Amino acid sequence: MSRDLSCHPCFNDAVRHAFARIHLPVAPECNVQCNFCKRVYDCVNESRPGVTSVLLTPLQALKYLQESLKRDPRISVVGIAGPGDPFATPERTLQTLQLVREAFPEMLLCVASNGLNVDSHVDRLASLAVSHVTLTVNAVDPAIGAKIYAWVRDGKRMYRSQVGAGLLWTRQADAIRNLKRQGVTVKVNTIVIPGVNDQHVVDVARRVAELGADISNCVPLYPVAGTVFGCVEPPKPEQVAALRAEVGRYLPVMAHCARCRADAVGLLGEASSPEAELALLHASTTPSSSDEARPNVAVATLEGVLVNEHLGSAQQLAIYGPRDGSFQLLETRATPPPGGGRDRWQALAETLRDCQAVLVADAGDTPRNILAEYQIKVISMEGLIEDGLNAVYRGIEIRSPSPTRLRCGSGCGGNGQGCS
Ligand code: SF4
Ligand code: SF4
Repeated sequence: MSRDLSCHPCFNDAVRHAFARIHLPVAPECNVQCNFCKRVYDCVNESRPGVTSVLLTPLQALKYLQESLKRDPRISVVGIAGPGDPFATPERTLQTLQLVREAFPEMLLCVASNGLNVDSHVDRLASLAVSHVTLTVNAVDPAIGAKIYAWVRDGKRMYRSQVGAGLLWTRQADAIRNLKRQGVTVKVNTIVIPGVNDQHVVDVARRVAELGADISNCVPLYPVAGTVFGCVEPPKPEQVAALRAEVGRYLPVMAHCARCRADAVGLLGEASSPEAELALLHASTTPSSSDEARPNVAVATLEGVLVNEHLGSAQQLAIYGPRDGSFQLLETRATPPPGGGRDRWQALAETLRDCQAVLVADAGDTPRNILAEYQIKVISMEGLIEDGLNAVYRGIEIRSPSPTRLRCGSGCGGNGQGCS
């Protein structure tokens, strides 16, 4: 089916009952901390931005999209909207967009970001024919922004208070200008936070309109427990309606925003179907590309909870594999006895032909190199087996409170984080 820009259900109210969108949750991190945001990964019942039940790698996301389109051909838009910021980890986002663009040349592509790191990627977005970008601009006055953002991280530097808020707005303005130069449709979301920026929302709309933004979306605050604004009363519907009317003097206004989850799929405002949720769960444990023939992971563990054995001293390895949308222990497998030099490690590699990775406390260079020849990643780490499996299958960075170290074997095509 040929799709034009008017087939985007978020930008065109008239088609929201005919065309659906899908969010691919591939962006795990954020470079800004908004005082209203808490990202979680395991809540399927909560519906708001920042929430996803799983995280996908770019290849998993493509497969999930392919499956989803078979089930729901109304999908006209692929969006990346979290659970973190798509440009905090731009390589994951851009790789996903590229895979989708190659597989589905007619698909509308959409990205939602805080805007801090968009400007340097505008040309790439344009070359991928990303047609819609949403930026969330909550303040153009750094004094007000300082109340909204706890910190802003640019590369390795962290900025707080008005310096951080000022930097964010400068980057957002640059991004809007350049996106418009490239002909991208730009929507600006503004979270209406009573007592903080509600008197400032119209100024935001006026400034972004001057820069060429196409549409405004005033989103009432969704107070999330455990955040700075967790106890702030959301604005009343009549206050939001009045603000939208004023904003409408400067920009067309979107009023049907569904505050979608980072893994939303289907028509706007409709909850994901159980089949779609299952497909997402399944996709998150599906090995990618060359890993398909080797779905399992070997683990050097003393007691079955932690990755805590050196490969050289492990007499057996626990073999885990994906099952029913998760992973489980399949068996334990004896390792070849010590001695024998390279032959020992070649024998081990032969017994691990069904494994894409081995999680170990550490390993010598010889086994690393030999296992790499067999395309088995050796991942050195300390911590829970579950964390290691999440890294391999779901691309989730290990965040162990104990010092955690991941090192991939030389055959690893991944990003040095134990996942690829
Ligand atoms: Fe794009 Fe936002 Fe609509 Fe998702 S909900 S498709 S990110 S405009
Ligand atoms: Fe959350 Fe988005 Fe703010 Fe990041 S930019 S803290 S993901 S709301």
